[in-house]
Amino acid sequence: MHRNPWDPAKSCFNEYEVHSLKPSQLSSEVSTYQVRPNFFSLTIEDLKAIFEGQGKEQFRSQQVFKWVYEKRTTDPEKMSNLSKSFRAELRNLFDFSLPPVATHLKSIDGTQKFLFDMGQGMTVEAVLIPSDGRLTLCISSEIGCNMACRFCFTGKQKLKRRLQTGEIVGQFMQVHDRLGPDERISNIVFMGMGEPLDNPEAVFKSIEILHSTWGMNVSKKRVTVSTSGIVPEMWRIAASKVRLAVSLNGPDDAIRTQVMPINKRWPLAQLLSACKEYTRATRDKVTFEYVLLKGVTDQIEHARKLYKLTRDVPCKINIIPFNEHPGTGFERPDDSQVALFHKELMNLGAHVLLRRTMGRDIFAACGQLTSAYEEHPKMMDISNSTLGGLRVTDSRGGQLSL
Ligand code: SAH
Ligand code: SF4
Repeated sequence: MHRNPWDPAKSCFNEYEVHSLKPSQLSSEVSTYQVRPNFFSLTIEDLKAIFEGQGKEQFRSQQVFKWVYEKRTTDPEKMSNLSKSFRAELRNLFDFSLPPVATHLKSIDGTQKFLFDMGQGMTVEAVLIPSDGRLTLCISSEIGCNMACRFCFTGKQKLKRRLQTGEIVGQFMQVHDRLGPDERISNIVFMGMGEPLDNPEAVFKSIEILHSTWGMNVSKKRVTVSTSGIVPEMWRIAASKVRLAVSLNGPDDAIRTQVMPINKRWPLAQLLSACKEYTRATRDKVTFEYVLLKGVTDQIEHARKLYKLTRDVPCKINIIPFNEHPGTGFERPDDSQVALFHKELMNLGAHVLLRRTMGRDIFAACGQLTSAYEEHPKMMDISNSTLGGLRVTDSRGGQLSL
């Protein structure tokens, strides 16, 4: 295991929002920028440090966290056990805003997709997936991605920017706020847009906030970070005690390099050795994601190679038939080939699961909704949707009926 020292309690002021004032708002006394940290970027320790610096009592941080995360109030005026002057101060100290939901789609299979407006015409998405009594939220860590995996829609859009902690926590809060009274997000997977280990500080800090009993009390055993294999950063996953998923997507170096250029930098031997270190350190299994691409990764010989490659690593393998989108040159294999591949791995003794592609009717493949929306920002292009009776809420255009 790499023993890199890592201090998750980094200063809250490393992340802030800069609000430019319009020239008409400027006076000689007003500075050009007003800087307020986003509240959802802060741990309770950050808040304590801020209040301490201002000579305020420590218990104030607990009071405010309780209002924000437990009672879900971000309006200081409603925080009735705080003094009037403190409420006014809070408003000036912090930005309590969450990333606005631009579009909310619900699929017939129960999957819900949320598109968040990150400003300057940029969007990211989160997907809520109900299955087996669980409610899993798949969230994004970056806008675009530089890893350029050939089969991935997000990979086509170069990295625009890394999300801030508050924008990652904010995706969770927005979805949480729209759940029914008996619903609760039980699992979080970092499998939306972006490469989480390319934005590790914000990703792991957001996990600390969501996990904290003062935050949303999400168990770390139910948080999975998926990586394309940035090997030098993988130690962080074990260090933060969350679960590891690795996008393998190729049974040998030649094929993996063809579909995931990152394999040139960190080839399979290094990647698998980091996986083994994770399993030794945590006694947990790794989840390998393996996308089936017709003729490229879906042959029986590939299944055998995949088995040999992973048999020394305590793991389970999720096979995912390629979710098609134009311009990749790849195709989704026929169901019969998917079944043969699945059966071969099972017969060899692998712990393998065939993942249903959920929400195909709402563009649930990585990055596809964002792209459709950015090209048609006024009207989400739902004409390609195979679905009738889809509920679409567009915050810019109001309720759309289909
Ligand atoms: N960047 C991280 C997490 C986001 S991608 C990673 O690569 O692990 C999440 C998963 O979606 C990855 O396992 C990836 O292989 C898979 N994926 C991306 N595009 C896909 C597509 N078109 N069809 C099926 N799976 C896809
Ligand atoms: Fe980035 Fe993951 Fe897509 Fe690869 S699969 S381009 S790492 S988001």
